[in-house]
Amino acid sequence: MKSEQPVAVRFVEVSRHFGTIRAVNQVNLDIFDGEFFSLLGPSGSGKTTCLRMIAGFEQPTSGHIYLYGQPVSALPPYERDVNTVFQDYALFPHMTIEQNIGYGLKVKGVPRAERKKRIAEMLDLVRLPDVGKRKPNQLSGGQRQRVALARALINHPRVLLLDEPLGALDLKLRQQMQYELKSIQKQVGITFIYVTHDQEEALTMSDRIAVFNEGGIEQVGTPGEIYESPQTAFVAGFVGTSNIISGDWVERVIGTRDLFSLRPEKIHIYPAGADVPTGCIGLDGLVRDVVYLGVNTRYLVQIDGGGDLIALKQNLDQSSVDIEAVRGQRVRLIWQKDQMRLLAGGG
Ligand code: ATP
Repeated sequence: MKSEQPVAVRFVEVSRHFGTIRAVNQVNLDIFDGEFFSLLGPSGSGKTTCLRMIAGFEQPTSGHIYLYGQPVSALPPYERDVNTVFQDYALFPHMTIEQNIGYGLKVKGVPRAERKKRIAEMLDLVRLPDVGKRKPNQLSGGQRQRVALARALINHPRVLLLDEPLGALDLKLRQQMQYELKSIQKQVGITFIYVTHDQEEALTMSDRIAVFNEGGIEQVGTPGEIYESPQTAFVAGFVGTSNIISGDWVERVIGTRDLFSLRPEKIHIYPAGADVPTGCIGLDGLVRDVVYLGVNTRYLVQIDGGGDLIALKQNLDQSSVDIEAVRGQRVRLIWQKDQMRLLAGGG
């Protein structure tokens, strides 16, 4: 999509092994200038190691990393035009917020008046204009994380690396900070590379996402592509929930023995015997379980002839009593045929 933009970070066949552990294995990746790009995957899948190699804290065992076209293997961290924001903020406790944010500029010898101006700009950017004279322990966790962000951005790095920066915050604050981070990234236009194991966080903020599994990348795409068209069973199961379907009834209905993913919210529940519109698939079954989730209800349906499907229905006008009444009923599940996504690894 952004192929006309310069490539900010390029991985070419990059591996990082620790003894027998293949932390990162033959990764190829292009991250474009100005993107909000997330590395998403479960714990131990190699995301942080990739981030540390971009920062220069870790060296590839083999392969090459380029920053704006320049190979960086020989560059120490402080000569790379990148900055990192960590989960634990790493603010200096004895310094004021202003001193923390301006520290990098002071080290560089930027004159006091210029420093003051840029610190004020940064405090405005992260919406904390009045806390400059306070110490870190006089701020909340969310405010400290914004100060850490301001400190990392004040030098205008070309790339900002963020390693699970919201992990220590509670859910409400995390969701609020997700929107703020995205809006700050848009304002400054700097490439953000964001490590997270939280799929919702990645879907909310990213222009594109790379899904990691066991040191490799399973899929790269926009949030819509990753969610709507997962290419592997791993991606379908890790990003949101999915029915992974194969076997006899797929062969009966579709005519192949391929592996498919079908999102639960794409499956509609009708009374037994309902008409199946053209372009749709209808299967009959028995509702084995019903889980009321507030906004939605999840139904587990045992399909006649074998296999289970999960269907999700938004609770628009149905009450929890209506919902319970469906348990044990025979139903017809109907979905559009083209909602079934072919996955790699079937057959
Ligand atoms: P998390 O979300 O838990 O941080 P991650 O996806 O970021 O996980 P990495 O931290 O990159 O994963 O780790 C990938 C694998 O490499 C893990 O098995 C980890 O134990 C291993 N690993 C990472 N750093 C080292 C190291 N310095 N020495 C040995 N093994 C390491």
